[in-house]
Amino acid sequence: MDYIGLDIGGTSIKAGLVDQTGQILESQKAPTIIDDLNGFLSNLSELIRNFQKSFKVAAVGIGVPGLRNSKTHVVETSPNIPCLVRVNLEDLVADQVHLPVISENDANAGAYAEFVCGAGAGTRQMVYLTLGTGLGSGLILDGKLFTGASGYAGEFGHTVIDPNGRLCGCGNRGCLETIVSGTGIVRTAAEKGMQGLLTAEIVYEAAVHGDRTAQEVFKETATFLGMACANLIDLLNLEMIVIGGGVMAAGEMLLAPARDAAARHAFRSSFRDCRIVQSKLWPDAGVIGAAMLARDL
Ligand SMILES: [Zn+2]
Repeated sequence: MDYIGLDIGGTSIKAGLVDQTGQILESQKAPTIIDDLNGFLSNLSELIRNFQKSFKVAAVGIGVPGLRNSKTHVVETSPNIPCLVRVNLEDLVADQVHLPVISENDANAGAYAEFVCGAGAGTRQMVYLTLGTGLGSGLILDGKLFTGASGYAGEFGHTVIDPNGRLCGCGNRGCLETIVSGTGIVRTAAEKGMQGLLTAEIVYEAAVHGDRTAQEVFKETATFLGMACANLIDLLNLEMIVIGGGVMAAGEMLLAPARDAAARHAFRSSFRDCRIVQSKLWPDAGVIGAAMLARDL
């Protein structure tokens, strides 16, 4: 039996047929329709039906970029996909494809993938961070995905580190993700005087080619990332922090100084017991995690 994992992004829906060990057998993509629920659902169902034509599918998992209530299974809000407000995606999709369907926050799905068959396999206390446009996170505590009282846990990117800081997409000021994310890197680079059209990738390339300002941007970002890791380590006494997301293409340029900062700020005994590593499954962690949640439903 195989499972379908769907990872809903702001611009596209990634879909994968995943076997029970977490291997992706086949992938597909469709555009995300963000402002019309019927259109959104019909693209989603079509992806599932395409797989159903040639494979025996046991269940479907959907990773959603938003808050999903664990009691009602309703997606309460999804900042980048306005049609997903107070929607029970599980019921709506199940009605169309006649399969069991489970939904979960996308970063939580990614965390679950790394825990089940990625970098965090074998651990019991693990946090997954994903650095993309924002900073997503998911918690594995005592060998289980931890989603809190109502399903909204793991919004570490929106912990406040500066009350007068930068305005965040969530409406607050000074959230961690306004600094530690692709968007944060671009803002830091602009503040430090880098000119022209900036992306995290462009700043990275400049740093690799010796641009001192760009190197400082990465060092500063890594320092905040490391402090954030230290906070997690002191709070949760983790075995591992797994870091993925597009920005992690920068690899050790971010990770090495982040580890140094974490070592400076965390309790020594607690830091010693925690490894900070790169994701094994990115960019497929979301798809695999959603499928594994469907498997373990
Ligand atoms: Zn925020």
